[in-house]
Amino acid sequence: LFLFYLFDPIGRLVEAAQQYQVGAAAIARITRAELLETEDTDAAGEPAKRSGTAPATVAFEDVSFRYGDDLPYVHHGVTFDVPEPGMTAFVGPSGAGKTTVFGLIERFYEVDGGRVLVDGRDVREWPLAELRAAIGYVEQDAPVLAGTLRENLLFAAPDATEEELRDAVARARLESLVAGLPEGLETPVGHRGSKLSGGERQRVAIARALLRKPRLLLLDEATSQLDAVNELALRDVVAEVSRDVTVLVVAHRLSTVTMADRIVVMDAGLVRAVGTHEELVAGDPLYAELAATQFLATTPAETPLELR
Ligand code: ADP
Ligand code: MG
Repeated sequence: LFLFYLFDPIGRLVEAAQQYQVGAAAIARITRAELLETEDTDAAGEPAKRSGTAPATVAFEDVSFRYGDDLPYVHHGVTFDVPEPGMTAFVGPSGAGKTTVFGLIERFYEVDGGRVLVDGRDVREWPLAELRAAIGYVEQDAPVLAGTLRENLLFAAPDATEEELRDAVARARLESLVAGLPEGLETPVGHRGSKLSGGERQRVAIARALLRKPRLLLLDEATSQLDAVNELALRDVVAEVSRDVTVLVVAHRLSTVTMADRIVVMDAGLVRAVGTHEELVAGDPLYAELAATQFLATTPAETPLELR
């Protein structure tokens, strides 16, 4: 399916749309992450083998990577270790290679050197469908499809029960949103989800990912500002989910990094430091400077962590 995706992306999109009876207008909004959420079946169409329920571990060992033979290296020997569950934040300037970390974990791309390990096993040795079934990926500026909220949530988990749906809605702190909508879950949320705020869209995407019961959640935080209510909601969601799912977040705001169990500071394709917020403020001059000038200068609720 990976090769199929590379060589016939439009075919895959149309197939995915037909399979999930998503309207034609929605096809254009199906992104890489959502496409992959439809790949929980192997080549024979059988459900992918589940790799258990324990939180996943992740490690990068001296990873080098470039997007093409005539393009510069994006990772120059990236090494970090996420040996236990909890929340790990990735921070660093724009172009540092943070989103690329997620692409390599999902094996959208393969390393040019070094190894990417999930559960101690090289991702190149995992059956792709099994690897992807273990991972929920919420992309930056996560899209919402045309259709109802229910359709949006069940898009990648059409067999989920009502109880599972309710549970995902609760865990993503969407209950008050649903209660406030005229038709609840049956409310059309509009083309590109335009009736939802950025923070609500992000949590819809998280709920959609949770319905697939991932062992590893990759969250590429939106850079757009969140209001205080949405900021708190996101914080609660990440805190709760990271208790039994390994959560990696590309973080753009102070409230996310301060709660992280570990922060990986990336710069120009390298990991320059790893630690907690307090450790890094004390021990890494770049982080300390960024924290002082970028995170703390204005109120957290209004400030994206603009390390870019
Ligand atoms: P970050 O998330 O830290 O801002 P990225 O991992 O998105 O950084 O990008 C790192 C570098 O790789 C940037 O120079 C970016 O332009 C480049 N890049 C990202 N995606 C692609 C791609 N699909 N093809 C070519 N270059 C890319
Ligand atoms: Mg990025």
